[in-house]
Amino acid sequence: MTEARRLYVLLCGYEILHKTVSTRDRGGRYIMAEPICAYLIQTTKGYVLFDAGFNSYNVEDPFRRAEYFPRRHGGYPPIVEPQHELLTQLEQIGVSPKDVGEVVISHSHFDHTGNIKHFRHARITMQRREYEFAMNEAVPSDAVIKPDFDYPDIHWHLIDGDWEIVPGVDVISTRGHMPGHQSMAVLLPKSGMKVMPADAGDLMENYDEEILPGQSVDDDSARAAIVRLKRIVESTHGEFLLTHDPVLIQTTKLAPDYYE
Ligand SMILES: [Zn+2]
Repeated sequence: MTEARRLYVLLCGYEILHKTVSTRDRGGRYIMAEPICAYLIQTTKGYVLFDAGFNSYNVEDPFRRAEYFPRRHGGYPPIVEPQHELLTQLEQIGVSPKDVGEVVISHSHFDHTGNIKHFRHARITMQRREYEFAMNEAVPSDAVIKPDFDYPDIHWHLIDGDWEIVPGVDVISTRGHMPGHQSMAVLLPKSGMKVMPADAGDLMENYDEEILPGQSVDDDSARAAIVRLKRIVESTHGEFLLTHDPVLIQTTKLAPDYYE
């Protein structure tokens, strides 16, 4: 029994990274162009947005660009073309931001929080540990752009662990890459289980070979998250939809097309 009806994959741009950002100690000489995805789930109870892409203003504005993407290791600015803008894609589907009542954020890195500003009417769910980490003044991460989500009028919904939004749409706690990282699993009526790990593992390689993400706050938890997500896919004969895999994205149905 599932309340999910459709799943749209929103390709929100690309980021330029050293491969070691995605795979621990692997591929030190390679630079990757990795997609940035967000997901819109239509349910019988309304729309759920999982992750919020990248805020293109952070690269268009010269001051923000210089502050957040100085030219150094890992500091290449993302590429967002007009077709990648999250609101443009929602418009193509015929969905207004106001139609989206639930937003779930996997973690506080800038490629997942960029468009939160458009959903201040909605309920925004983050793991409590992640929120506390992200709102801490002394955030030890240059991948968090606090002005993208530090608005006083946001309706935060802070959770501890797993959460069923509606039957068939589940938030799965996958801490490790970040203190309160979370993933999503959606059971669709025709195409079955889709598991969206976000950054628990960026690439299929992370799951096929159980390779840790480049960065983690707790390696044991990060490894357990990868194993847990694999088991969900295997036990349900489901499929991964990966946020950052540049090969998988080429065979993924992109909005306005959808999975049902
Ligand atoms: Zn990411």
